[in-house]
Amino acid sequence: MPRAYIEAHGQRPARSKFRPSDALDNTNDPSLLTAAARNRAAGASPYKVLHYMNFSDLGLTPELLRAVAEKGYAAPTPIQSRAIPAVLAGRDVLAGAQTGTGKTAAFVLPILQKLGNPSGRAPRALVLTPTRELAAQIAESARAYGRYVGIRTVVVFGGVGIHPQIEALRRGCDLLVATPGRLLDLAEQKALDPARVQCFVLDEADRMLDMGFIHAIRRVLKLLPASRQNLMFSATYSDDIRELAGRLLRNPVTIEVAARNATADRIEQHVYRVPKEHKRHLLRHLIRDGQWRQVLVFTRTKHGANRLTQQLESAGIRAAAIHGNKSQSARVRALTDFRENRVTVLVATEVAARGLDIRELPRVVNFELPNVPEDYVHRIGRTARAGGTGCAVSLVSPDETPLLRDIEKLIGRRLPAAALPAYETPAAAPEPRPAAFRTSGRSRSSRT
Ligand code: AMP
Repeated sequence: MPRAYIEAHGQRPARSKFRPSDALDNTNDPSLLTAAARNRAAGASPYKVLHYMNFSDLGLTPELLRAVAEKGYAAPTPIQSRAIPAVLAGRDVLAGAQTGTGKTAAFVLPILQKLGNPSGRAPRALVLTPTRELAAQIAESARAYGRYVGIRTVVVFGGVGIHPQIEALRRGCDLLVATPGRLLDLAEQKALDPARVQCFVLDEADRMLDMGFIHAIRRVLKLLPASRQNLMFSATYSDDIRELAGRLLRNPVTIEVAARNATADRIEQHVYRVPKEHKRHLLRHLIRDGQWRQVLVFTRTKHGANRLTQQLESAGIRAAAIHGNKSQSARVRALTDFRENRVTVLVATEVAARGLDIRELPRVVNFELPNVPEDYVHRIGRTARAGGTGCAVSLVSPDETPLLRDIEKLIGRRLPAAALPAYETPAAAPEPRPAAFRTSGRSRSSRT
């Protein structure tokens, strides 16, 4: 019997690798704990219950526990400890969970259990996500977690042919994972009947609103039956999110696994103050000198992502771009090449990066700061996922100082400026300098 299986079944005390602060939330409702967990809780604080809980305490079936064990998870993450019993108990849930907290399993596992057996063609659970990548990843997870239960998961999103998706729905669907536009197209074509959905999940709700999906969400909601369970996940909270939650959820269990709008404290963060035109040279230096093997770099525009990818490639660094103008197959290829270490740098725009889950991604670089400070939290959340540690570096040019201030205000702390290393820049044509010269970054930093 594999060790992970024994641990997941509670026969050996498994300790979550999450830190105590992750386990703080505002749902200490003992009725949501299983009997085993309540016994374990006797005399202990609710926080300790969470921290030492096993998957077998959560009320999941042996088939699901087996699949979880095969994924190698030793213990549930804090959001899983809280959300799984609540969803199984039929409660609506509002979860403020950062990326990388294990939120997918937190809703997929109890949904699979509640769906029970495969039945009919119309989906009984619907997960709405903002991006194709996220949709594909959730569906992949659902199939992995559901491998011993026979639940049929179908994923639909735009940018690819609709007919294979219509076929897949015709063959039968219990759990549907969808992006809003394609879901509405399918419903309009009568290829999909959302009227039997009993459980609705709005994932990454904040990003949905940022991407302008509010009208599409409202249209989807109109297609669903009035009586259903609703789960809403969002990494950040704005007034719009609160309002949407107010309309969507009934007496929800609220779960918060990290401080609102706070960055994961396992991520080491610093900035380099650097002139804009030097950023690519500094990045090249950091990658080479630090022998970085896998780094996700964010640019603000698709054009900027393409240009930086080419510049890195011509400097002999393997790079690929991922953004909304790329075909689905090009995105998948870039992501696979990156995951499997065939390219060192994945250059991504905000939207494309949403939903990327690359295990143990060590580094994120903000080549340009995002215009919306919340995006900083999303971006750096790509590293230090599921309890790991990571490093987030931001290259900040003088014109970006106001953006940096906004980010610092949001996360409630100053991002330390690191001393610039000595990086090479090619000779600027009009200046009377040698073909290549060494730039003392430190002296430059005083200018910026
Ligand atoms: P998510 O926040 O759902 O995107 O999950 C982030 C990563 O954590 C994924 O790679 C999951 O496979 C992984 N993960 C989820 N639950 C656990 C767990 N209990 N223990 C370890 N890793 C997990």
